[in-house]
Amino acid sequence: MEALKCVNCGAPLPEPKEGEEYVKCEFCGYVNRISESADYMEKLKMEVMGWLQSIVPAQVISSSSAVDAVSRHNIFVTTVKPNLLSQHLEASSKVAGLISMPMLFLPFWDVSISVDAGHPKEAFEGIAKLESLKPLAVVDEDARFLNKVIATQYTYAYFSNFVDLLKNGKKDPKLLANNFKKIREAFENVENAEAPKLRFEALYRAYMSIDAMMSGDMGGAMEGIRTAIEMLERSKAEAAKNPEYIPMVPAIEKEIRIARAIESLVDGLSAVPDPMEGLMKVQRFFEVSENARKVLSTQYHIDASDFGRYRGIMEEVRNVMRAKAGEPAINVIGGPRELMLPFWRVQLTYTFTTGSLFWKKGKAITDELLILATVPYASRAITDIFKMKPKGGMFDGFLGKEASMTTGYLRDLMGAVRRSSVSSGTKIVPPLITSEEAKLFSDWYIGSVARATSGKVKFGVSRLMGIVYLGAEVRGDDVFIPELKEFQVSVRGHLRNLMKAAL
Ligand SMILES: [Zn+2]
Repeated sequence: MEALKCVNCGAPLPEPKEGEEYVKCEFCGYVNRISESADYMEKLKMEVMGWLQSIVPAQVISSSSAVDAVSRHNIFVTTVKPNLLSQHLEASSKVAGLISMPMLFLPFWDVSISVDAGHPKEAFEGIAKLESLKPLAVVDEDARFLNKVIATQYTYAYFSNFVDLLKNGKKDPKLLANNFKKIREAFENVENAEAPKLRFEALYRAYMSIDAMMSGDMGGAMEGIRTAIEMLERSKAEAAKNPEYIPMVPAIEKEIRIARAIESLVDGLSAVPDPMEGLMKVQRFFEVSENARKVLSTQYHIDASDFGRYRGIMEEVRNVMRAKAGEPAINVIGGPRELMLPFWRVQLTYTFTTGSLFWKKGKAITDELLILATVPYASRAITDIFKMKPKGGMFDGFLGKEASMTTGYLRDLMGAVRRSSVSSGTKIVPPLITSEEAKLFSDWYIGSVARATSGKVKFGVSRLMGIVYLGAEVRGDDVFIPELKEFQVSVRGHLRNLMKAAL
């Protein structure tokens, strides 16, 4: 008996179990009633027949032996092939568009896909139509051509299903994995296709690894994601050598960063006593951080659309989990408090001109700036180190005695950073922004200081110095961080989100 097909997506269904009335599609998750699928198969057969009649003379279809091989070859070349070529070109160009986009995502992410991948059901029906042409492709050359067209259509159909799942928010990693398994199979007999073979095998394994992580099997998840990373690296090297697959390289690079983010997450979850509880916290963290990602682009015009940005952030998530499990895994200043907030350290150098009359001296100063890494959830994220003038005589500026424009307090404070663990009950917020994004905030601050001082202060290169956590006291709807003294930040209006994001 011919395999039943899914009435929702058109993919083949697994063999129904004896006495079962329903069968679940492994590619879209739809639960098919067997009778419903059988009706669909009847309709599909009629449709395929109608299509075949529209492109091939009737006597060829009705009789398999009456028409000899030469005539079949002629019919194939004159009527079938031109018809297939346009279809093949369309499917190929859609596949080419799809393989140049990264395709690895965690189920917690808001993935928006702009690419048009068509309707999977139409794509699968396209395969059925192509297969009905097989009796006509009797000459080797024709059979090879038809197989190539079918393979592309097959790839396209499963891609289309994958995109459809994401667009509909159905991010069950098992379903996504199954589609990649089929895409990988479609490349089996394609020559010089090491790059896509490795990549789609890697994506299959990566999604299986996410599935293992979601069900609490951290050992399986770790093994799977490490294999996937290794395969993606090999795929990237192969793609770079093959002009046909070079367009995949940037997408593979993003997938490698995303896979490494997943590796860090699994690593962190392996460290905590209850991985499933850890996973729930991570899910809440992502709800906040995904929203933060949107605000960054809408309000701050920072492009945070690349999920590879989570690589560094997940490393911190792992460090926080390890610190809570007793390892000295995070950088801390000051004593433990009920809430620990993440800061990006920025080391900056500046020179300023002093003395107003005949002699001007340029002095180079090094200081540090802290940027609350929970932006956009912060109402004041930057420690305004230029706000406080150092103590000194009133006329120092005129006499050229000003030693510095800042107090150097934070630079000195950072001398006390230490690697530490924290008690398991501490609430720690991992960073919501990357070091690159923090650099943008730092540059804005530097720019505003340069403007406010009319160019009296000139900045050199600033350096990101990593994340440091400071303990905060919750006071009403804001926080107070004793170590920051007069350089307080503020999270007024955002405390609820930060508590939700805390691990
Ligand atoms: Zn389906």
